[in-house]
Amino acid sequence: MSAQLDNLLDYSVPELIQWCGNLGEKPFRAKQLAKWIHQSGMDNFDSMTDLAKSFRQNLSNRACIKAPNIISDNVSKDGTRKWLFDVGNGDAVETVFIPEERRGTLCVSSQAGCAVNCRFCSTGKQGFSRNLSTAEIVAQLWKANVLLREAGDRVYAQERPVTNVVMMGMGEPLLNYDALVPALQLMLDDTAYGLSRRRVTVSTSGVVPFMDRLSQDCPVALAVSLHAPNDALRDHLVPLNKKYPLRELLDACLRYLKFAPRDFITFEYVMLDGVNDKPEHAQQLLEIAKIVPCK
Ligand code: SF4
Repeated sequence: MSAQLDNLLDYSVPELIQWCGNLGEKPFRAKQLAKWIHQSGMDNFDSMTDLAKSFRQNLSNRACIKAPNIISDNVSKDGTRKWLFDVGNGDAVETVFIPEERRGTLCVSSQAGCAVNCRFCSTGKQGFSRNLSTAEIVAQLWKANVLLREAGDRVYAQERPVTNVVMMGMGEPLLNYDALVPALQLMLDDTAYGLSRRRVTVSTSGVVPFMDRLSQDCPVALAVSLHAPNDALRDHLVPLNKKYPLRELLDACLRYLKFAPRDFITFEYVMLDGVNDKPEHAQQLLEIAKIVPCK
């Protein structure tokens, strides 16, 4: 029964080494396996020809490499490609690939639905359903690379078309921290996706305690969904602001920058007509930019 098989997309490389160790396999075998999975996009153990037959048999009996089924796969005129993944029980999450001349960015989801309930966000209106597992987060990258390679999409003729990942799809990634961190570690690991910390971005609405934890556990680039330049407006647009108001958020950004791979934080700001786009808001944003180096 496939339900009893361990999905190897769930494991960071150190976890995979441990998992293979339990089968009596040496760490370098686990690294070979990781390369087959994440770099070659292989989901068939029999095709992993440099692994011993007995190991492959063991893998087939105990493990699988499985992404959620795809509900839809659409390419728009500008080349942007969107997938909707079925994560069960009527839940679906979206993954978006944005090709540019010098890079290919994948926007990855972390939760089915979202509890933060930002006023302008359709995901927020859906409410929160559940956290994605590490495998479900990683599978979006794994599957995108496989499908884009099949389609012949290559950035600079690289084998892996996705050069950048932004955790900016459905959900608040820092509220799914335990699944997020192993997924980020896989993105950075040279035996998996080998992306630099500058090319992996976590976008948060401002979950201050987990920003501090991320700075210690896996300090990738950070983007903050600001959307309002003062507490009164941000309390309304991003209700999490009531818990972690702007001054606390900006202080957390400054602490994060000490460990970040870039010397700035990316602030996201959706312009809402007549709501957050007045001259006084621009002035307040300038004041924020004086406090936190940002783009
Ligand atoms: S945190 Fe992100 S996904 Fe969640 S409601 Fe806000 S904008 Fe939407």
